Amino acid sequence: MKSRIPGFYKLSAEERLKLVGEEAELSDEETERLGGTGLTVEQADRMIENVIGTIEVPLGVATNFLINGVDRLVPMATEEPSVVAASSNAARLARRLGGFTVEVSEPVMIGQIQVCNISDAGAAKKAVLEHKSEIIRVANEQDPVLVKFGGGAKDIEARVIDTLQGEMLIVHLLVDCRDAMGANAVNTMAEAAAPMIEELTGGRVFLRIISNLAVHRTARAEAIFSKDDIGPDAVEGVLNAYAFAASDPYRCATHNKGIMNGVSAVVLATGNDTRAIEAGAHTFAAYPEGYKPLTRYWKNDVGDLVGAIELPVAVGLIGGATAVHPVAKACVKILGVKTASELGGILAAVGLAQNFAALYALSTEGIQRGHMRLHARNIAVMAGAPTELVDKVAQQLADEKKVRLDRAREILEELRKD
Ligand code: NAD
Repeated sequence: MKSRIPGFYKLSAEERLKLVGEEAELSDEETERLGGTGLTVEQADRMIENVIGTIEVPLGVATNFLINGVDRLVPMATEEPSVVAASSNAARLARRLGGFTVEVSEPVMIGQIQVCNISDAGAAKKAVLEHKSEIIRVANEQDPVLVKFGGGAKDIEARVIDTLQGEMLIVHLLVDCRDAMGANAVNTMAEAAAPMIEELTGGRVFLRIISNLAVHRTARAEAIFSKDDIGPDAVEGVLNAYAFAASDPYRCATHNKGIMNGVSAVVLATGNDTRAIEAGAHTFAAYPEGYKPLTRYWKNDVGDLVGAIELPVAVGLIGGATAVHPVAKACVKILGVKTASELGGILAAVGLAQNFAALYALSTEGIQRGHMRLHARNIAVMAGAPTELVDKVAQQLADEKKVRLDRAREILEELRKD
């Protein structure tokens, strides 16, 4: 697959789909689903409760991504203008010095078992740790399929915490989820292990649920942006922007939000759980203490800008909506990933690209110029412009630097008179 497609953005949606379909070897049905029917109401009705319809979100494809030497076309589902363009632009700059290098840990999630009403927390903890293998055996009996694929419960951790309700023992079941996000698998195991843990501790178990702070399942990405491409001013600008976020929570929230613009768009496109990924990312940013940027930047020996990111990547290719949503399935095929870990690595690369693009724009010309050009099209549509006039109205709004609804209505009126 090639991901460097100059002028991709100038094609019509139909032409882009044809090109992506050829690159990803999509079937006629997959192409038809992407360009038309999407998720049917009957399918939606089997996914959640009280269904009355579906809501569409634009699906774009980011180009230029080179990740561990492999070209990837990256589907992104988002309602926000500029996200796909920004990602593609950053990926184009990164690929000049080799693209993104990513590393992904084993896909290990944490299942938490909350033990209350314990008289001796130290003894309870010891008892649990001494019976690790029995607890792991009970957990693994719940999911022979996962075990067959090399996953399953692998280890146990135990912590005593002080809470408003007194001391509690929190047992962590560490489960290798292979290509599943793992919530159902982990929750089932945690529930099954609970009676044994009650017996061992003499306490009472209340919650048995996965943790979204997936510290054992993270992906890292790194990329170099050449000072010759972006200019030494931009190198300093991005370093200043990063330093700002690292020292100011007001800025840091927006810094990390921008990263998730890219990450969540890919998570959504692949039918994964956006809330799980968002919760994991923001908690990881505050872990072990103090809310920090998920990315880091520094200058290398020759003065180029190096960017890096690490974030939890609790995503799967098996189970959840990924397995049943026809558009999500087609998106996984476009990405060309065969394992959940590969998808995790792509999320890290996209998060870094998105963040670099935002900091580069913010610290140089500002983001409004590029953003407003795209936003102008939304305003033109809001003003009631028919399809054939949207670009004309948007262009004039952008040229006049007056991207406002009242002005869009006036322009439309003038064009109609003409
Ligand atoms: P799942 O239970 O549908 O599928 C996972 C199962 O597929 C495994 O347990 C295993 O038996 C089987 N399997 C087959 N091939 C496999 C392979 N190669 N690798 C791994 N497993 C394989 O899905 P899940 O991932 O356990 O659950 C994900 C869903 O749970 C998502 O929809 C998510 O939204 C939801 N959820 C999330 C939370 C949370 O994040 N806190 C809580 C509850 C539910």
